[in-house]
Amino acid sequence: MARVYNFSAGPAVLPEEVLKEAAAEMLDYEGCGMSVMEMSHRSKVFDKIIKKAEADLRDLMGIPDNYKVLFLQGGASLIFASIPMNLMKNKKAGYILTGQWAKKAYQEAKIYGEAVELASSADQTFSYIPDCSDLDIPEDLDYVYICENNTIYGTKYHTLPDTKGKILVADVSSCFLSEPVDVTKYGVLYAGVQKNVGPAGVQIVIIREDLLSDEVLPGTPTMMKFKTHADNDSLYNTPPCYGIYICGKVFKWLKAMGGLSEMKRRNEEKAKVLYDFLDSSALFKGTVRKEDRSLMNVPFVTGDAELDALFVAEAKKAGFENLKGHRTVGGMRASIYNAMPKEGVEALVAFMKKFEEEHK
Ligand SMILES: *Cc1c(COP(=O)(O)O)cnc(C)c1O
Repeated sequence: MARVYNFSAGPAVLPEEVLKEAAAEMLDYEGCGMSVMEMSHRSKVFDKIIKKAEADLRDLMGIPDNYKVLFLQGGASLIFASIPMNLMKNKKAGYILTGQWAKKAYQEAKIYGEAVELASSADQTFSYIPDCSDLDIPEDLDYVYICENNTIYGTKYHTLPDTKGKILVADVSSCFLSEPVDVTKYGVLYAGVQKNVGPAGVQIVIIREDLLSDEVLPGTPTMMKFKTHADNDSLYNTPPCYGIYICGKVFKWLKAMGGLSEMKRRNEEKAKVLYDFLDSSALFKGTVRKEDRSLMNVPFVTGDAELDALFVAEAKKAGFENLKGHRTVGGMRASIYNAMPKEGVEALVAFMKKFEEEHK
């Protein structure tokens, strides 16, 4: 068995310990004679799995009691619609456009009401986070929406926008559980788990209780009403059971690693190895304004598309997978999520140095 260093943006690398544990439990989960894939979501065994996953997540993030945790399906992209359907009471919301995922959420919101562009970094191909300290926020906005870590462009908000009292809604898909967060600053935060936490097919929505309501936009499907799932502890219908089980294992792993402060320390240390190299390299360059850099997704270029392609191909041969940049950006991108060991980043940098020597 040979595991590669997998720099995929998502679905992405998971902790080896978690995969091994899941493999060992595949045929017989804790003596019940079946796998977690095969058991009823109403069984006592599964009930314990989902409750423990939620408890560990609450513990990791310090989620206050007045927030609900929902395990949903449909992709983060479906939540782009659930947000306006559930929260657009005045049919007007503000969006900060910092990349493709923010733009898609903004466009989706326009189907349901007025989506106001509050700020954007489109003028410089989303290579920075706009100043959000004094935005012009209309009085009648239902919420302010951000994509907190921009997976494709490699930027992250290091300071949350001043929403002037409006509810903050954040897509945290690619920075979820990478560092501590103050949940009380958000009305809703949500993540597709396939970036940093688990297998594709699970979305985790953390929502303040007072925002759960039966008064949603007319035509909202039952399945897209957050209250449906909150009232039923995410068991209104069959949830993505196996995915939730893996997420639970990752939560347990994160706790054993020392929790989110320790993850932040590790992630900073890891990202620094790559960013320091990019800042000193004569061949490779980071594409993001320094103060807005993401700890999770690191895009870089050589400035020559052919050389970029050669680098990606040679890196692949050397066991570094999925380094090709997003199709809309080009160049390279190394996603270095929680489960990427520091040795993986060090090995990548050593390979980049060698490549630079050979191609300068
Ligand atoms: C990947 C990603 C999405 C889309 O996720 P799907 O589950 O494929 O719909 C949305 N937002 C962010 C920040 C992402 O990284």
